[in-house]
Amino acid sequence: MRIQTLYLLPLIILLSSCSKEVDLNAASNETDNKNYNWRLVTAWPKNYPGLGMAPERIAKLVEEMSNGQMKITVYGAGEQVPAFGVFDAVSNGSHQMGHSGGYFWKGKAPAAQFFTGVPFGLTADEINAWTNRGGGIELWREVYEPFNIYPIPAGNTGTQMFGWFNKEINSLDDVKGLKMRIPGIGGEVLKRAGGIPVTLPGGELFTALQTGVIDATEWVGPYNDLTFGFQQVAKYYYYPGWHEPGSMLELLINKDEWDALPKHLQVIIDTAAKAVNQDILDEYTAKNNKALRELVDVHGVELRKLPDDVIAEFKVISNQILEENAAKDELVNKVYQSYKQFKEEVSAYHKVSEDSFVEARNN
Ligand code: CA
Repeated sequence: MRIQTLYLLPLIILLSSCSKEVDLNAASNETDNKNYNWRLVTAWPKNYPGLGMAPERIAKLVEEMSNGQMKITVYGAGEQVPAFGVFDAVSNGSHQMGHSGGYFWKGKAPAAQFFTGVPFGLTADEINAWTNRGGGIELWREVYEPFNIYPIPAGNTGTQMFGWFNKEINSLDDVKGLKMRIPGIGGEVLKRAGGIPVTLPGGELFTALQTGVIDATEWVGPYNDLTFGFQQVAKYYYYPGWHEPGSMLELLINKDEWDALPKHLQVIIDTAAKAVNQDILDEYTAKNNKALRELVDVHGVELRKLPDDVIAEFKVISNQILEENAAKDELVNKVYQSYKQFKEEVSAYHKVSEDSFVEARNN
């Protein structure tokens, strides 16, 4: 008898686990098989190279991976909501998804800026590591929770350029009174240095610069800036992009809609966004240099490096502002402490690894 029971035991276990799976499937069948047609609004012009292609590629991957069960229609800025209306549209559920940059929402959620990037902060690889493996994503979801939004990283521009100017910047005096489009904490730094920061969507920048509404603008880097034609209305192209060292883009999902999705679609969306997060960075890395050569060699743009003492002054002001902002808001402080500690640790290792290697390779 004992031997018979032993023989039967694996069969009994197998049968009982099968019936459990059948029960689970029966319970969730209705949601699992439902078709989903979602709308995604963005802060970028429709099909804009780089940033604007991130949501398009996520939509395509999700549709393919889900075998057509989920279709996402992507709308450019202004098609359904204005560029800066994306966060509210996802928050209030008028649209299930959005694609944008967290630092646009500093007026609503000041801590959101860390999830795009802050001046003299983390590079693309580093912010990905902090977000995915260093506690960042949990903090980000905490910051967006009150807005009923579930964020996922979805693209990175890499290190940006400081931007387009019609006068040389030789000292901080040269930014006094300068009206420049520069979002996020970079804008706060410019303000404290005597400049006038403006936040405008990308699609409005060329005209604003051409008509003198603004004196200068930053946007992304050569690959994107060339497409907007800033070389036609500005003479100097300044680097480095101290204000945006590796800006991460965001996929925003209405949290009620996210929670109601079957698990396999959540995994598909998360995996598609992760793939696109890297793909967009690869696109910028592959295309920036050729675009920069075209700007300089074909369009005669004057490439300038900010003087070292100006960069050093911007850094002092940046750190002051980050500390002050953290002291004013508990959640900002919580995110700042995590970001700061990660930056210190990763910088220490990168100093002896990547930084010293790149120096050895390039010199
Ligand atoms: Ca920028």
